[in-house]
Amino acid sequence: MFQSFLIKYGEIGIKGKNRYLFEDMLVSQISHSLKRVEGEFFVHKQQGRIYVECQKEFDFDETVEALQTVFGIVGICPVVHAEDKGLEELEKEVLAYIAEVHPQKNQTFKVNARRARKNYPMTSMELNAALGEKILETFPQMKVDVHNPEILLNVEIREKIYIYSKIIPGPGGMPVGTNGKAMLLLSGGIDSPVAGYMIAKRGVKIDAVYFHAPPYTSERAKQKVIDLARIISCYTGPIHLHIINFTDIQLYIYDQCPHEELTIIMRRYMMRIAEHFAKETGALGLVTGESIGQVASQTMQSLAVTNEVCTIPVYRPLIGFDKQDIVDISEKIGTYDTSILPFEDCCTIFVAKHPVTKPNLNIIRRSETHLAEKIDELVKTAIETAEVIVAE
Ligand code: ATP
Ligand code: MG
Repeated sequence: MFQSFLIKYGEIGIKGKNRYLFEDMLVSQISHSLKRVEGEFFVHKQQGRIYVECQKEFDFDETVEALQTVFGIVGICPVVHAEDKGLEELEKEVLAYIAEVHPQKNQTFKVNARRARKNYPMTSMELNAALGEKILETFPQMKVDVHNPEILLNVEIREKIYIYSKIIPGPGGMPVGTNGKAMLLLSGGIDSPVAGYMIAKRGVKIDAVYFHAPPYTSERAKQKVIDLARIISCYTGPIHLHIINFTDIQLYIYDQCPHEELTIIMRRYMMRIAEHFAKETGALGLVTGESIGQVASQTMQSLAVTNEVCTIPVYRPLIGFDKQDIVDISEKIGTYDTSILPFEDCCTIFVAKHPVTKPNLNIIRRSETHLAEKIDELVKTAIETAEVIVAE
């Protein structure tokens, strides 16, 4: 029965001069999300509003689901279109709408008519009164409440007449691309895909880096990360995933450095390489799935030592989250089932029995001097041989 959706957006409304940019980004993200849905959609801005017009047959649930992946949307209102054929016809349309959309008739309501076309023969007030009266007459169990109605029935007079009352919640946040770009360190775990989702929700576009260690990590472990990137790309738009062969660097660290420092030194090299790709692609920060105290490499001391090699900001959207909070989000966004597939990760293959939990920066730096002979060359090769996959 619905022919279009009115898109309600929140924070972008307060961005002053940037408003147009924000709206344009939102329109483009909406169009992108609807490519996944069968049907033909026309997304457009009109008088400070965004509409999705459904040109052909479409699947309502799938369309709403796609719109719910677009950051910046706070509400999705399904709209019924009526031809302008005079008041009597309009009353019929409104009554049919209520019968269908609000079958439970004992609710309070208010009619909110708006004339976007000023040549309409009645004023908004007159329309409110006429339609309200008709509704009361037809559905005597309904009551008017002008302050706190359960149903706010919007009737907008445009070329056609738009009728809507339902608001389906959107994901909130800001349209991706309105707040620059960041480089996500994406592993196959539960946390980093959620971290990518969270930063994208604030309007940041993301690309990603994944470190693997063939043959110690398998092709299936790599595929899992590609799959995760694809899942989050539903929210973030296409992700350029840089896949880095980390094996030789890891083996070299393993040979030259104390084993309990392995993880922390490895992480420092991951950050250095990720930063290289961030700078190369115009990303303004790195993003990780770290959360304080979750594992040995995520104590305050370890985070400080890892962070020390970075010259651009490192964003850790999950820093204060408990694991269960993160699991809840990963289930909600659809990454959980993939994240828990039991494939090896390069961080776990050479892991020490007792990794340092309070690394000392000077000691770590001294250990890294043992890498002087070959590490620059190995890093250079890892960067040069990176494979880039577009996940979408
Ligand atoms: P996750 O669930 O995201 O894998 P984790 O709890 O396993 O996190 P760590 O393995 O300590 O924690 O990793 C911390 C962060 O470092 C990850 O969230 C991710 O951002 C980054 N990271 C770890 N391993 C890799 C990897 N192989 N490739 C890219 N980034 C990685
Ligand atoms: Mg991990």
